[in-house]
Amino acid sequence: MKPVKQTTADEWARNNRFYKPSSGFPGPRDPSLTRYMIAFGRSFDVADQIETYGATYSRSIMVTSSQSGKTEVILDVIGRNMDQRPAPIMYLGPTRVFVENEIEPRLMEMINDAPRLKERLNKKGNKKTRKLIGGVPVALAWAGSPAQVAGMAAQLALIDELDRMAASIKGEGDPLALIEARGTSYRDAMNGAISTPLLGTVDIEVDPVSGLELWMKMEPEDIESPIWRQFQSGTMHHWSWPCPECNEYFVPRFKQLHILDEWNPAQAKGKAHMSCPRCGGVIEEHHKKEMNERGVYVAPGQNVDENGTVTGTPPETTTLSFWVSGLCTPFRSFGDRAAQYVAAKQSGEQEKLKGVINTGFGELFAPGGGDVPEWQEVADLKRGYKMLELPKGVRILTMTVDVQKRRLIYVIRGWGHRATSWLIDAGELHGSTTHEEVWGDLASLLQRPIRGMVIKRAFIDSGYRPGKPYMVPVNKVYEFCRRFPRLAYPTKGRATMDKPLFVSKHDVNSKGKIKRYGLDLVMLNTDHGKSWVHERIRWPDDQPGSGLLPADISNDYCKQIVAEARIRRPNGAPQWIARSKENHFLDCEAMQAGMAHMLNMHLIGPLDEDRDTKPKRRPKHSGRSKNPKNQNPDTKRKQGHKTQKPGPMGKPGDANARLSAKEQRRQRLDALAARMYK
Ligand SMILES: [Zn+2]
Repeated sequence: MKPVKQTTADEWARNNRFYKPSSGFPGPRDPSLTRYMIAFGRSFDVADQIETYGATYSRSIMVTSSQSGKTEVILDVIGRNMDQRPAPIMYLGPTRVFVENEIEPRLMEMINDAPRLKERLNKKGNKKTRKLIGGVPVALAWAGSPAQVAGMAAQLALIDELDRMAASIKGEGDPLALIEARGTSYRDAMNGAISTPLLGTVDIEVDPVSGLELWMKMEPEDIESPIWRQFQSGTMHHWSWPCPECNEYFVPRFKQLHILDEWNPAQAKGKAHMSCPRCGGVIEEHHKKEMNERGVYVAPGQNVDENGTVTGTPPETTTLSFWVSGLCTPFRSFGDRAAQYVAAKQSGEQEKLKGVINTGFGELFAPGGGDVPEWQEVADLKRGYKMLELPKGVRILTMTVDVQKRRLIYVIRGWGHRATSWLIDAGELHGSTTHEEVWGDLASLLQRPIRGMVIKRAFIDSGYRPGKPYMVPVNKVYEFCRRFPRLAYPTKGRATMDKPLFVSKHDVNSKGKIKRYGLDLVMLNTDHGKSWVHERIRWPDDQPGSGLLPADISNDYCKQIVAEARIRRPNGAPQWIARSKENHFLDCEAMQAGMAHMLNMHLIGPLDEDRDTKPKRRPKHSGRSKNPKNQNPDTKRKQGHKTQKPGPMGKPGDANARLSAKEQRRQRLDALAARMYK
């Protein structure tokens, strides 16, 4: 046999495969349509591995969605190898029906289209499940045909729809181990699998080198999906697109798809778009073609510049692995995917939702959602009262203010028994914060009693935080707080701190010089604050400490609360990443968490009428306030309220017992609060 010019699987397909006039893309196959599949198709060639990655691999894994060109790339690899590198091949599909009705006819079509394959096909020995080309077999098998599979040696073995197969042969062994064993007699044996993923919970982390949001490597036991476990044990290449707005590369995935809750499937189909996680720019369907043309795979630790040049070496492993979002396919629009999702969401069936996340987007599905609560869950905190009404149980009002360039965003919260709280008001005051006027408006708001109750304390953000593109007018914040001593406190957020807050005595005067007296500056732990807010979204109904919302709160407020997601950086430190631009109410509510800690809201007792109907709880001795556990909301939460908490009443016979319960509470709170900022 004369030597054949070696080409890549995609080149081979371009020259040898044709689509019928009846297909969606008639004529010669164009592998660049699904450019994200080319790397997987080429990965079964050792020379190509060395050239592209500087290493060799014995396994190649592709995680993808449905309608992404999955089966076509498998056929490309089989065709190219049969033509240029004849050695036994085994294809393993999920079911007999799929193999016989879907794969076999397409394989035969390919053989008949490619002259060099057609002339060498052994027509007499042709079986549905076994083709002989120049005497070399291509076997088609499925889960449940172990007898055929077990006996055959193959240089190349491929599994299609690994997750579906693994589910159907539960308990009969690992399909990958099965195909790996086929290759033991070949020095250069390769195997691979391609699949949509199933169950698992996976976080996102920002790669410190590229700044891309990559899937995080999770504990294998958290991942039920076999293909995902393979993906994360490999190089973890992510298909990345350049943003048409900012030109920076990002990893497209479901969370960048912009869908409004009020949309029905038809509206989602017409209106859905994506937003860039780097700049927030709007990305539409018509951008897709060029983004795919400039798309590249980037692995953890690699970098990609604005020209799409990838540098650095992928993680060391024997498995090449790739992930591409279902949003990248040219065969389905953003709108198609969004409509599918909305229809599933509206059905209320977890199974349907799971199906869409897995097959439509190529992502894992965690029952009940991932770490980030969706805004509808925030809306579920609505109760039967309206803004500026005081629900029974509110004892203290506090206000927090986020300072922006041209507006102040505020939240007023009412506090009751054991830090149960109600949002009382949330809004914005417009006007340049370097000018006096908006601060005057804030002063009026701060002094306005709500149904007779005055605001006890306010936090005004004076901090410059990473991610904020401008400086807060600190001097204005300080001037304002000086006008309201003991009522308004300037705060600064810090990403990491070992406690929820501390009070700094260092102060800056209106000329920017440091003074040793004057205002206290409250340093707030932003990770604690935001975590506190998100924990309250799924607070158990029967426990005190929930954070509730008025019935007429806006969807915008609810969305801002989940505008950021908590991820872990490779060094283990938590980081909050933006999911959408507007996050000011989340900032305000996170400051309220600091307020709850400072004022010991968890020590607030029940209302008098509640007490009459509930059994009294009394501590055995009165040393309760020295118990540090009572001052740490984290400890309280973890203990799930099982610990005996300080009761509302003083010890019997205590001098305080003569005072009204109300007085006692007030004294206790004041004393504790005074200790906090001594
Ligand atoms: Zn961008």
